[in-house]
Amino acid sequence: MLKKLYLFLKTFILTKDYKSRQKLNKHQANSLFKFLKNLNSDFYPKSLDLKDFNIIDKKIFMDNFSKINTLNIDEKTAFNIAIKAEDSRDFSSKLKIKKKNITIGLSSGTSQNRGVFLLSDEEIAIWSGYMLKKMLPKPYFKKRKIAFFLRANSNLYESTNKSFLEFRFFDLYKNIKEHITSLNAYKPDILIAPASVLSYLANANNLDIKPCKIISVAETLEPHIKDKLKARFNQTIHEIYQCTEGFLAHTCSFGHLHLNEDIVYFEKEWLDETRFVPIITDFKRQTQPIIRYRLNDILHIDNSPCECGSARIKISRIEGRCDEIIYLKDKFNKDFLLFPDFLRRAVLRTKEINEYCFVFNKQNYELFAYIDNLEYELELKNNLEFLFKDLNIISPKIVIKQYERFEFMNKRIRIKVI
Ligand SMILES: [Zn+2]
Repeated sequence: MLKKLYLFLKTFILTKDYKSRQKLNKHQANSLFKFLKNLNSDFYPKSLDLKDFNIIDKKIFMDNFSKINTLNIDEKTAFNIAIKAEDSRDFSSKLKIKKKNITIGLSSGTSQNRGVFLLSDEEIAIWSGYMLKKMLPKPYFKKRKIAFFLRANSNLYESTNKSFLEFRFFDLYKNIKEHITSLNAYKPDILIAPASVLSYLANANNLDIKPCKIISVAETLEPHIKDKLKARFNQTIHEIYQCTEGFLAHTCSFGHLHLNEDIVYFEKEWLDETRFVPIITDFKRQTQPIIRYRLNDILHIDNSPCECGSARIKISRIEGRCDEIIYLKDKFNKDFLLFPDFLRRAVLRTKEINEYCFVFNKQNYELFAYIDNLEYELELKNNLEFLFKDLNIISPKIVIKQYERFEFMNKRIRIKVI
């Protein structure tokens, strides 16, 4: 107990923002050295040089689950505990192993693509110290009420429950209309929810709350939703970019996303001048070390300096997932990478479409667009044809159909290549 409190306070006090790139680089080199020196996993090589480690992805990571984690917990046991917690909606149980209390959680994602995270109590104390220092408005120790909308609660979030903070979990599995009544009564100072829930709340006429900070989590916050929220709540909308692999980025006081380079080392696989796929190494994860892990996300770098003065890399947005990229052909029969944003913009330009998804059939060079309002079929078709012409690429055959929800879809994925 005391150790956890010590780790929490130490992290809270020592966490700061780096204003000098040179100092940040030095901090990264030291953290990386310490992390690799203490590494104790059957899967990774024994080396202090990151280059000796292979780049891995989710599949490799999950296939080697029990060898990667330092307690040799097997994947099946971990999954079963996490699923039992989800089904019972009781998220408090921990796995006791080798004198450690381990919290197990599931990432969202389709069933074939789910990740499992393992965190010791000590890691959770460090995580909550970092998270609170970065996300709490000043003054830090003021009494505040936090409303948290999530699919699943976790010991991870409960760990942020400090005496000066009142924390209430709003279960996304329950009816959102009832939540509005409770929210109005609760009157949170800080509202944390996925972008789609924030968007729903912004449209609700009977919502009567005045939070001083709003944080979007778990889903990509699309620019038009961000603008709507900003107008409705009259404040900067903050964003947290976090997944089972780590706490990767959050917005500064000016509302810009910065990578958390003080706790995670980012290598970049460039897709073009501004887009890259991050390959991450987390300095803080001991139980389940994450080293040179290639994420499935497309990030946009913004090289302009930020008003906040942070030396950490600024991200203009998280565009989508790598497997949402469609490979089309240009006029010279060369590959053209059609990023998710292109299709998203074509949809946004077409009025009155709320739900959509795309399926691209590689073999037949056919693009199926599923939309909820077929009245705008022709308009969308024209917008797509215009887009392909504008990009100088060979247009796939476009087929517009009535919207339906597919197995592959989740809150972040709307494009599938088959
Ligand atoms: Zn900034």
